[in-house]
Amino acid sequence: MTELPYRYEAPASQTLFDRAALVTPGGVNSPVRAFRAVGGTPRFMVSGTGPYLTDADGREYVDLVCSWGPMILGHARPEVIAAVQEAVARGTSFGTPGEGEVALAEEIVARVSPVAQVRLVSSGTEATMSAIRLARGFTGRAKVIKFAGCYHGHVDALLAAAGSGVATFALPDTPGVTGAQAGDTVVLPYNDLDAVRAAFAAHPGEIACVITEASPGNMGVVPPGEGFNAGLKQLCRDHGALYISDEVMTGFRTSRAGWFGVDGVEPDLMTFGKVMGGGFPAAAFGGRADVMAALAPVGPVYQAGTLSGNPVATAAGLAQLRLLDEAAYATVDAVSDRLRGLVGDALTKEGVAHQVQNASNMFSVFFTESPVRNYEDAKRQESFRFTAFFHSMLAQGVYLPPSAFESWFVSTAHDERAIERIAAALPAAARAAAEATEATEVAG
Ligand code: PLP
Repeated sequence: MTELPYRYEAPASQTLFDRAALVTPGGVNSPVRAFRAVGGTPRFMVSGTGPYLTDADGREYVDLVCSWGPMILGHARPEVIAAVQEAVARGTSFGTPGEGEVALAEEIVARVSPVAQVRLVSSGTEATMSAIRLARGFTGRAKVIKFAGCYHGHVDALLAAAGSGVATFALPDTPGVTGAQAGDTVVLPYNDLDAVRAAFAAHPGEIACVITEASPGNMGVVPPGEGFNAGLKQLCRDHGALYISDEVMTGFRTSRAGWFGVDGVEPDLMTFGKVMGGGFPAAAFGGRADVMAALAPVGPVYQAGTLSGNPVATAAGLAQLRLLDEAAYATVDAVSDRLRGLVGDALTKEGVAHQVQNASNMFSVFFTESPVRNYEDAKRQESFRFTAFFHSMLAQGVYLPPSAFESWFVSTAHDERAIERIAAALPAAARAAAEATEATEVAG
């Protein structure tokens, strides 16, 4: 077995990881944080500022994960921190309505025109779970179409052939999800309208909704082909089903109005999370007024949450969204553009087969010769090359998502200094990717 040609140590992270593993399964509170796909010791971060994270060993990294999307203004942006401090000083939870949640809902409705009404929740998982329940309640139908490689949180019915950690760990199915819970889920290949047409034909009058990532980022970045989302919308309309666009990842990131702002296809329901919480647990689902009117307390479909619309989370989200004007998106897009060019050039120079794919400023690298249009394509990549690439970048102080099946995220805070640090790390990482074999092991 060859070892990756570098060694480094993270003793403080290792000590924390050992402690964590005693009291938490796998030492982490969300599986993809565990480095299992790439090997080695996960870094325990102690602080973040702008585009940088500092770990427990005092090492600084340029962060290309941005908390898996939320930190689009970078870490500890002063205006967001000030809004949080002000909110915290007034008390942290009241269990009553408050003005902050009204303001955040107004901001979402103002940005995303298909959303007439919105309900706040605390995680993307809750948002998609609630949207599915609402679609079933509204239509009186049971079946849900989802796409292989799309991740919609760990909702029982949506874990079938999911992306993100489910893809990273190649889990075919999740024990604990019963046949009854998954039996009404129809999983289809992404970017294949014929398959959707055939599913509607096979289940007449039974399909409540189609849920799709607005532009998938959980099998790596695989944008919808020309006309795919519009085709889904049309098929849903033709068959009396609802079209649910999951914008938990793309919402308020890929443009002011998320992916809807890019392709203009009007969903019946949408889900949001990540950016709208400013680094706190805030998420939402919303859409057509007549559909949202089916929700309790107006309608019969029940949905609730003790901490929904939490005043601190809404203050953070609102402060972040208010800073996200067209200039901010232009900055994030430009950073992404630069980095995509730099990564592609470095890999080309070393003769490494790759695809750099993007959906506005979200992007990822697939180690494969051909464009990736669905989950099957994504799985064909040489992910051992990603492992080598990842560890070289990490050792040089650049923090990438620890999986070949995840989007990379940048922020307005990724300035020239941060980009130069990434650029300086790329040649060695590209070389490591070129030299990697399936037998390469992680050292250190
Ligand atoms: N939907 C999408 C598209 C996501 O990317 C995610 C999380 O990554 C979720 C839903 C679930 O969100 P959360 O992790 O906040 O539950």
